[in-house]
Amino acid sequence: MGDIKKYEMYIDGKWVEAESGEFFQSQNPFTGEMWASLPKGGQADVDKAVRAAKKAFDEGPWGKMLPKDRGHLMHKLADLIEENAEELAQTETRDNGKLIREMLGQIQSLPRWYHYFAGLADKIQGEVIPLDKENILNYTLREPLGVVGLIVPWNSPLLLITFKLAPALAAGNTVVIKPSKYAPCSTLEFAKLVEKAGFPSGVVNVVTGMGEEVGDALINHPDVSKIAFTGGTDTGRSVAQKAGATLKRLTLELGGKSPNIVFEDADVDNALSGVIGGIFAASGQSCVAGSRLLVQNSIKESFLESLVKRAKRIKLGDPLEMETEMGPIANQNQLNKIKEYVEIGLQEGAKLLCGGKQPSDLGGLFFEPTIFEGENGMRIAQEEIFGPVLCAIGFEDEREAIKLANDTVYGLAAGVWTNDLRRAHRVAAQIKAGTVWINHYRDESCASPFGGYKMSGYGRENGMEAIKEYTQIKSVWVELSGKVKDPFVLF
Ligand code: NDP
Repeated sequence: MGDIKKYEMYIDGKWVEAESGEFFQSQNPFTGEMWASLPKGGQADVDKAVRAAKKAFDEGPWGKMLPKDRGHLMHKLADLIEENAEELAQTETRDNGKLIREMLGQIQSLPRWYHYFAGLADKIQGEVIPLDKENILNYTLREPLGVVGLIVPWNSPLLLITFKLAPALAAGNTVVIKPSKYAPCSTLEFAKLVEKAGFPSGVVNVVTGMGEEVGDALINHPDVSKIAFTGGTDTGRSVAQKAGATLKRLTLELGGKSPNIVFEDADVDNALSGVIGGIFAASGQSCVAGSRLLVQNSIKESFLESLVKRAKRIKLGDPLEMETEMGPIANQNQLNKIKEYVEIGLQEGAKLLCGGKQPSDLGGLFFEPTIFEGENGMRIAQEEIFGPVLCAIGFEDEREAIKLANDTVYGLAAGVWTNDLRRAHRVAAQIKAGTVWINHYRDESCASPFGGYKMSGYGRENGMEAIKEYTQIKSVWVELSGKVKDPFVLF
């Protein structure tokens, strides 16, 4: 058993323990060791953090800072992330068991987000509205919301924080971040960089602890203007219900059951890579996982045969090794859920083509790449498993492919594999999902909007759309003639 690293939380520019003095521990899913100890925050800590964030917004230098200066601090933060990417990635891998090559790739891309949104900080503007009235000037101001609560899951903590934090800061908000209890450490390492970059106290606060305590306290807090949440659909629904009490604004990025659609005219090798990466990258613990394969009946048998061969070759192992392709599942609860779904699939009569169990030669929380052949109505094709379990389903023609793709409560993403240009765009237009990749899968950019249709959530992250999510519009009326209108008439 190695030494346990002890963390403090970051509130109002200070490193502090929880008011209760309690701690919780974070486990390394690969070694099984408890490797870090963190303050178990609660209501009192959230109150303190929100107070600091509100003060920084209302009175502090942040609320009055020129947009270009906010941008300058964000550029500095971007540079610091770049310098510390390796260490941040190691921390995430230790905490959530995901591949170092994936976490490093993600973290190396984060500076791009901060540079992009830093550049937008001084371009957030209102407009002059031409009214059908004489002697009235009407213009709008696009203003920040105030204190924003960011709640993120364990699978990609800093990436998902960045989707929210970069636009929130660019627009002039202050934030309180609540990372998942399963992977909180990289957020605190990141807060050290926020401090080093020189952000004023209270602009960025981090409260660690349990979702149902810290998360709840943030959602219920009357001084929090918005919650930006990424997580499961059930949690998202309860967040929306609770946020209704104080009519908070919300961005919800929730689960998915995304279809990867392979037509008979697709480039088979590319499609195989896209399907393998879509479901088995990150051990399937990805909101956009292509967990339903829709494959045209004319090529189904040969495609599945090649797919199973590729899946069996995937290298499972230590996530800190660069050549590993699949690491462990992030925590025991998640592993139990995956095993349950495999049982459900078998009971439903789905045909198990490969995997379905923990590998005998690796201990810990590993699970084999698993492929079922089934029907779209089965629970394994309808419910999010969040693990390396693919359900393959055949289709006859384009019309049936679209019908099956949309036959789900979710609508986060989809992949379309075809060499027919017209078909590609026709299908993309008819899929009810926030992202469609054509001959491509599982990609993101700071400039391209990302979010869900249907039960995959609402609101958009990334791109110009994200600025709208962190601002509100004020309409200003100015009388120019000096003559006040009849006070008893509205128009
Ligand atoms: P959860 O919904 O369980 O948790 C997400 C966050 O919410 C965590 O910080 C969690 O804290 C917190 N939380 C839990 N309960 C409450 C509560 N009652 N009130 C407020 N906050 C709470 O999701 P998972 O951590 O299991 O993450 C996996 C899910 O996230 C998957 O369903 C996946 O689809 C989704 N996801 C969506 C993405 C998207 O962009 N659409 C991207 C990545 C993941 P704690 O962990 O401390 O309990």
